[in-house]
Amino acid sequence: NRDIASRQAHDAAITLDGIEIEVAANIANDAEASQAVNLGTDGVGLLRSEFLFLDRPTPPDEEEQYQTYRAILGALDGRPLIVRTLDVGGDKPLPYLPLPAEENPFLGERGIRVGICKPAILRQQLRALLRASVHGPMKIMLPMITTVQEFRVVKAFAKTIAEELSIPLCPLGIMIEVPSAALQADTFAREVDFFSIGSNDLAQYVTAVDRGHAGLDYLADPLNPGLLRLMSMAATAAQEKGVWVGLCGGLAGDLDATPLLVGMGLSELSVSAPVIAEVKQRIRQLDSRACQTLLQQCLNSATSDEVRELLTSFTGNSK
Ligand code: PEP
Ligand code: MG
Repeated sequence: NRDIASRQAHDAAITLDGIEIEVAANIANDAEASQAVNLGTDGVGLLRSEFLFLDRPTPPDEEEQYQTYRAILGALDGRPLIVRTLDVGGDKPLPYLPLPAEENPFLGERGIRVGICKPAILRQQLRALLRASVHGPMKIMLPMITTVQEFRVVKAFAKTIAEELSIPLCPLGIMIEVPSAALQADTFAREVDFFSIGSNDLAQYVTAVDRGHAGLDYLADPLNPGLLRLMSMAATAAQEKGVWVGLCGGLAGDLDATPLLVGMGLSELSVSAPVIAEVKQRIRQLDSRACQTLLQQCLNSATSDEVRELLTSFTGNSK
C-alpha cells in the first residue's frame, strides 16, 4: 500500500466520485519546501514563518525575509504558497520582542495580537511578503484572528503597504483557530479571501485544555464531537459563501480522520511532508457522499471514542 502511495505521490488526489483535494505541506523553511516537492506536495498550506525568527538575537530584516520567501516560491515552482505571518507569544517567546509576563500566555498577547500591538515587525514582514508575492502564487494568512475588527485593521495596514510598494495586495486570509472566529465564519466570509482551520489551537480553546498538557490530553482530543461540530459548521459557512477553506492542524495528517475531513468538503489538507503520499492515496479510496454520511454520524456521536470506532470501522470497510 505504501509502495502504491509513493509511486502516485506526485499525482492529484481525486476521490472516487471525482472531487480533487489539494494535499499540501506544513513547512518551516526553504529546505523543507524542496523536500515537500520531492515528496509530491501540491503546495504549501502553512509556512510557519516564526521559524525564521526563532533562535537568533535579532529579527531577520526585510531583505533577508524577501530572499527566503522568494526562494521558497522558487522551490515550489508554481505551486501555491500560504505564508502565515509571525505567530509568537504563548509558548514561543522571542529574545528581541519582549512580551508582558502573563498568567495565561495562551490567552494573552500571541499571534496577530502581537502584530497589532507592536506593528514594526509585522510591517517589515508584510513588505517582504508583498515584494516576494510578484514571483509566484502567494497568499498571506493571519494567525489567532479573534474578531472581524482585527482583520479589518490588518487588511488596511497591508493595503497601505501594498500601495507604498505599488504592488497589488495578494489574497489575505485567516486561520480559524479561535472559537469566536469559527462561530462567525459566515461573517468573516464576506471579507476574507480564504480560511484555514487550525485544529491544534482550536482544540485547545474549545476544550479549555492547554495544548501541551500531558495529563489532560485525553480531554483535548481532536476527535471531540463538540470540536468536530464547530469545525464542520465553520467549513459549511465558508463553503456557502464560496470561500476556500483548508485545514492545517495535526488532524489533517491523521489517516483515520481523512474520510471525516473529506465529508466536511475541505478543499485542502495541509500535513507534514512525510505523510503526503499516504493522505493522497487514502483520498483516492473514498466516495465523498459516503464520507458526508460518516461525518453526520460522527457529529451525532456522544464521545471521541465513539467517533474513533466509527472511523475505524469505516476504514475497515473502505480500504
Ligand atoms: C493550529 O493551531 O492548528 C496550527 C496549525 O498552528 P500551530 O500548530 O502552529 O499553532
Ligand atoms: Mg495555531
